Amino acid sequence: NHYLKIIHEKNPSLNAFLEVYDEEAKAQAKLVDEKIQNGTAGKLAGMIVGLKDVLCHTDHRLGAASKMLEGFESQFDGTAVERLLKEDAIVIGRQNCDEFAMGSSNENSAFGAVKNEIGTNRVPGGSSGGSAVAVQAGMCMVSLGSDTGGSVRQPAAFCGVVGLKPTYSRISRYGLIAFASSFDSIGIFAKNASDVAITLEVIAGKDDNDSTVSQREVPSYSELVNKKSDKKPKIAYIKETLHTEGLSEEIKAATVSKIEKLKSEGYEVEEVEFSLLKYALPTYYILITAEASTNLSRYDGVRYGFRSPNVTDLESMYKRTRTEGFGKEVKRRIMLGTFVLSASYYDAYFTKAQKVRRKIQEAMKELFTKYDFIISPTTPTTAFEIGKYEGETVELYLADLFTVPASVVGIPAISIPNGTDKEGLPIGLQIMGDYFSEDKLLAFADELM
Ligand code: GLN
Repeated sequence: NHYLKIIHEKNPSLNAFLEVYDEEAKAQAKLVDEKIQNGTAGKLAGMIVGLKDVLCHTDHRLGAASKMLEGFESQFDGTAVERLLKEDAIVIGRQNCDEFAMGSSNENSAFGAVKNEIGTNRVPGGSSGGSAVAVQAGMCMVSLGSDTGGSVRQPAAFCGVVGLKPTYSRISRYGLIAFASSFDSIGIFAKNASDVAITLEVIAGKDDNDSTVSQREVPSYSELVNKKSDKKPKIAYIKETLHTEGLSEEIKAATVSKIEKLKSEGYEVEEVEFSLLKYALPTYYILITAEASTNLSRYDGVRYGFRSPNVTDLESMYKRTRTEGFGKEVKRRIMLGTFVLSASYYDAYFTKAQKVRRKIQEAMKELFTKYDFIISPTTPTTAFEIGKYEGETVELYLADLFTVPASVVGIPAISIPNGTDKEGLPIGLQIMGDYFSEDKLLAFADELM
């Protein structure tokens, strides 16, 4: 009741939830309460969770914030959702996001922009903007989002909450609407590292429904998050990140002062060079558009949701449905992806980007033989004004400059709050760790908060 009250108070101005499951959540709460009384409650009993509109939840609307999925309902639970429910979490609603998770400001939703609670003229970041704001504004305790190139970490930074993108393949993607399959990860928002840890512990791990998911055992993240390592971790920061054009002076200063603080507390923090860093963003945008154009070919007016009424034959049904159903940014990505995959450009773009991806992965792996963590700002700026990048697509793509490398490499990364700028807008600190080091990453994040 507490959370429903806050949602009904705040959602009309913030637009974080597309749908709220009032009666269902109350009924579930009652059930969980009974289980608590008789000692059979699961690990997440009482945890109020919101789901980004890209996660399958049986008999619930699912829309990727797109007109394309108008009226579509999921017939099954995605693995993450199923595991949450099994441990007695209470799903309170479905959260707004950028259409098909494409964007960095949550202005690309077919259901209107989400507003940052800090100032409703400010974007919350994207694409999981609704999920970030829901936690920021106290509308739920935990949100599940998706992070393909920063969509959990970047809005977490803009909203002053914690956001984790785990190692690629740590969490099953079964029941997550596909954007770029070799990058997509389900991510977790909360106000602290402990809530992220227990949620991760529940939803991570092997799954017969996703052949790419890791078979590794899932450690007890919720216990390990409180465990201080015997040996102080060794930390690096990448020289190039702090010399990035467009990096706000205040964010730079906040990052440098964090580095100084760590040093004064006895951590070894070293500057390293990473000359391939500048290739991460172009590599990302070539590969994800290619994968997206392939994944989104399934929305043809036959199988899911929307079908244009203005059709004369099969061909026109495909064309009109896709023309009317997809928004501008999604169409841009499909066209870019189709271009980089076309016979005459395939080698020049797609194959080349795959090779560069491998190079970046190898260089990053090398860094993790010497360091436990790499820290950087999460974003080059704080939350900008709604409409600021209207028509300036490439400028907006730069918002992902610092988050994209971990996605290209597939390593885990977390954004934690690191103070505010003069206007009171939250600043994020990103910590990247080696593959499957979520236990250490969460413990370190907890220590720093
Ligand atoms: N903002 C990035 C993009 O538009 C990241 C999206 C995401 O992580 N889903 O591609």
